[in-house]
Amino acid sequence: MKTNKQVFDTSKSVLEELKSEFLTDHGVRLFVKRDDLIHPVVSGNKWRKLKYNVEKSFHKKKTGILTFGGAYSNHLVATAFACKEAGLKAIGLVRGDELDENSNETLQKCHEYGMQLIFISRMDYALRYEKSYWEELSLEHPGFMIVPEGGAGYLGMIGCQEIVNELDQEYDAIFVAQGTTTTSCGILLGMPQDKQLYVVPVLKNFNSTAEMRILMVGTGIESELVDSMMENVTVLDQYHFGGYAKYDGELITFISDFYQQYDLKLDPVYTGKAMYALFDQIRKGEMENKSVVFVHTGGLQGVSGVEKKLGHQLFSS
Ligand SMILES: *Cc1c(COP(=O)(O)O)cnc(C)c1O
Repeated sequence: MKTNKQVFDTSKSVLEELKSEFLTDHGVRLFVKRDDLIHPVVSGNKWRKLKYNVEKSFHKKKTGILTFGGAYSNHLVATAFACKEAGLKAIGLVRGDELDENSNETLQKCHEYGMQLIFISRMDYALRYEKSYWEELSLEHPGFMIVPEGGAGYLGMIGCQEIVNELDQEYDAIFVAQGTTTTSCGILLGMPQDKQLYVVPVLKNFNSTAEMRILMVGTGIESELVDSMMENVTVLDQYHFGGYAKYDGELITFISDFYQQYDLKLDPVYTGKAMYALFDQIRKGEMENKSVVFVHTGGLQGVSGVEKKLGHQLFSS
């Protein structure tokens, strides 16, 4: 069995500079933190969010991890794979009792990595934050540690804080896509006070600031300290393209063009939207004379499904 350190090896996540005339003309230096290189299938940030959850499972001598996810959840795949590597069992509660393990590639991968998939109704899935439901699940699945949907929460946050410690270049700002806000809160906790964090929520009508506050205050950080840290956060909430997993031709073209120019793959759910936001801000002159770090959180396992829907490849050179 591998140690926690071997399983969660992030040494492949380098900081890489992108260069182009567009960037030079707008006075921007752009570095990409390549968490997408941590693993070909598992989203980089999901990996980081699981690190201390797996460590805790070891400490508590658990036999496995139980968690929740939708049909296309990067977090489910990450949990399935990490547990396999760590020698733990995995149970995934999946939203939608009409599905099965062959419904799509995400679920197939989970199954292939040995995760036991339990398909539940949307009504039951809605209970995933309820304490009483967790108690019920603990009784049904003794020996399993329950991890919240998306790997959200305190342990997930500290895992993501490590992203900042690994940055070995001077920078002024960090850009990151936002779902549950766990990754961005972790980055904020680790980030020096003189830097700015730009977050790009991929959900529509999402109160990013409130969600971040709830998560950080909930872990016991003083409310005043949270307020002072939040002063360094800029929310760019106009780049969700209609909501979670929604996209249009403009975003798809941006992702394809970006790949051709920079040889870097983005996904249409998270990183594509965040990079689109960054480039729009650069175009508007908002980033002039700044060094920016874009955190590439990964998420490319879902791309083949999008390509099937579109009827063409996203990445052709
Ligand atoms: C889950 C995910 C995110 C969102 O991270 P949160 O911690 O939930 O905010 C961003 N990018 C990718 C690729 C993801 O899979």
